[in-house]
Amino acid sequence: MWFTRKSKVLASCIILGAASAAALFAWPPKAKVVQSNAADLVVVNGNIRTLDAKQPRAEALAVNGGRISAIGSNDEIRKHIGPATEVIDAKGRLVLPGFNDSHVHFTAIGNQFSHLDLREVRTREQIIQRVKEYVEIVPRGRWIIGAGIPEDVQFENTAVLDAVSPATPVLLYYSIPKRAAVNAAALKAGRLNNEKAVVADDEMTWVRSAVPRDHATNWAEIAETASNLAASLGVTTVQDVHSDDLAELMNSLDRQGKLKTRIYDCIGIEKYREAIARGLKAGSGNSMVRGGCVKGMTEGAEDEIEELTPIVTAADKAGIQVALHAIGGRSVSGALTIFENAAKANGIGDRRFRVEHAARLRNADIPRFARGVFIASMQPFLFYGGPEYGDDYAAMSAAGVKLAFGSDASMIDLNPMLGIHAAVNSGRRSVSVEEAVRAYTVGSAYAEFAENEKGTLAVGKLADLAIHSDDIFTIDRVRIKDVRTLLTVVNGRVVFRAG
Ligand SMILES: [Zn+2]
Repeated sequence: MWFTRKSKVLASCIILGAASAAALFAWPPKAKVVQSNAADLVVVNGNIRTLDAKQPRAEALAVNGGRISAIGSNDEIRKHIGPATEVIDAKGRLVLPGFNDSHVHFTAIGNQFSHLDLREVRTREQIIQRVKEYVEIVPRGRWIIGAGIPEDVQFENTAVLDAVSPATPVLLYYSIPKRAAVNAAALKAGRLNNEKAVVADDEMTWVRSAVPRDHATNWAEIAETASNLAASLGVTTVQDVHSDDLAELMNSLDRQGKLKTRIYDCIGIEKYREAIARGLKAGSGNSMVRGGCVKGMTEGAEDEIEELTPIVTAADKAGIQVALHAIGGRSVSGALTIFENAAKANGIGDRRFRVEHAARLRNADIPRFARGVFIASMQPFLFYGGPEYGDDYAAMSAAGVKLAFGSDASMIDLNPMLGIHAAVNSGRRSVSVEEAVRAYTVGSAYAEFAENEKGTLAVGKLADLAIHSDDIFTIDRVRIKDVRTLLTVVNGRVVFRAG
């Protein structure tokens, strides 16, 4: 580490010339040696909304060692540009903290890309477009397998598929699956020496037999796929409530440099004894892969409340965070009763119990959330009912409820703009754009005990951010759903660039 830094200093000095070189060898070194300021990455010309009350707006920021090292005006931040600094010109676009989705099923998101449904597609151009979308998300080399090509669509040779997928094999069955369209990479994998793009009979069998048997169960590839999709949507953290205990897999992806998304992993509450024995603690782990949460569900029945109260109390006493899935008035009331019981039994503490969904709740229960400092982990787009029907985010916000927003992908699209769109287009139940963005960043960071590390853009915070196509704070709010992410940074590293 020290050596790297030193050689960087030396390299910079050679560029800066003799005067600076002389300064380097003078001892003690002058305090204003430029190199110590040089950032790994800077963003300039940004319309930056930091969500940090001390400095809500900025033009530019600098990143060092994966954390924000300075934030301010273009002039201030340009001083941090050294010869090795990656400079990103935001061109006046909106820059926000990375989105933190408080409720996803991570591997299910990746597994959506294990199959490409072409039944609704009519033309060859549409097929090519869908393949192109998959190529942008799946890891290089992971087969793209689809079905449903209309019988009248022709592929004379592999050229059109090769143009969008030169390296990743493509195998697309026709609607009558007796033949399939393939690209050159698939032919090569099937050891076929022809240039025909449509295979049948034995040739189709050969190509098919080259598809890895674990195509839909290779969890490392599937998680990497989900991570690529998250990066393309400006999502820099996900909270995985799929209960499949992925920490080890995620850590290994991270070591290979393939993890572009921080993850907070919730395991099933039925494993609470094992979790206690393991010494699991809320918000524990490294900065990429964390855990310490167990998730269960309740429908609010009396016997369920009795059964869950001691379990939740025991987990909480051991320092584990508890999340309960609850939808509908009785369920949410039941979850709150369980949490209140456990809090009473264990006394004052920073426990951050979470109600997952908290949808269609009784208005009378809103103050109970605020009183208990219980988190409402909500998915505005999943439960979107338009202006006339939906959850009352405005009332919850006014009551001081801790809101964390997410999607519930793969049940629904992972795109956070849809959730923000729903939360601000719900008539009198809407929150402001700022409140919605806050729930998708600061609020969800709080929900995973990470508000000191992420959620805002401020000096010392992790460098997770994204640049978006339009300013959602000023455009017509009915257009928010169409806003795209142009560039995403996780841990100071560019993990996605549109186009
Ligand atoms: Zn869910």
